[in-house]
Amino acid sequence: MIVAIDGPAGAGKSSVARALAARLGFRYLDTGAMYRALTWLALRRGIALDDVTSLEELARDNLIEFDDGDAVSIAGHDVTTKIREPVIDSSVPIVARHPEVREVMRERQRILGEQGDSVIEGRDIGVIVAPQAELKVWLVADARVRAERRHAERDGITVDMTADDMRRRDERDAANTHRAPDAIEVDTTLLSLDEVIDRIEGLLRERAV
Ligand code: C5P
Repeated sequence: MIVAIDGPAGAGKSSVARALAARLGFRYLDTGAMYRALTWLALRRGIALDDVTSLEELARDNLIEFDDGDAVSIAGHDVTTKIREPVIDSSVPIVARHPEVREVMRERQRILGEQGDSVIEGRDIGVIVAPQAELKVWLVADARVRAERRHAERDGITVDMTADDMRRRDERDAANTHRAPDAIEVDTTLLSLDEVIDRIEGLLRERAV
């Protein structure tokens, strides 16, 4: 079974998807971490972010690995914390907008998603990566709350700067952010993490999937 969790930056996708997967005993796949890891490797190797041919080759040649916890690695480097740095936040939409890169990543995401019951989070999961998902959730939250949450995870910048960065990133990601017509919207603005998980579990029960 696949539960797809899509939505904009800071809506709570990662926390929700990770906790939901733990509660259900499902695997958790963070597709944003895959684009982030590829972007990190491109920057490290000095590949221009508009060099589609090299980026596609880089994606094909380097599998992104997740261990059982939260660790992410690529090309032998543990990039778990490095991929959350501001330079990656601002660079990743440039890498992720290339259709050739997305095709490689989506193929990998489909393979990972087929390895067992999974919660997959991203921006195009319910529409493109796993349109067959048994449950699709579109996660949203008020822009200010999204900025405050993201700010709590990042050092050194103000909430207003975080809000601006997130708005810019959402604009750059808009073409690749898709809400499935059959996705159920869950607004996390006023809900605790447990309440969001309870609600999604309720949706799963209602559908008896
Ligand atoms: O979800 P997260 O903020 O970690 O995603 C990082 C970036 O990866 C997004 O800003 C977007 O550019 C890209 N992304 C994407 N499609 C996905 C997941 C993430 O284009 N399914």
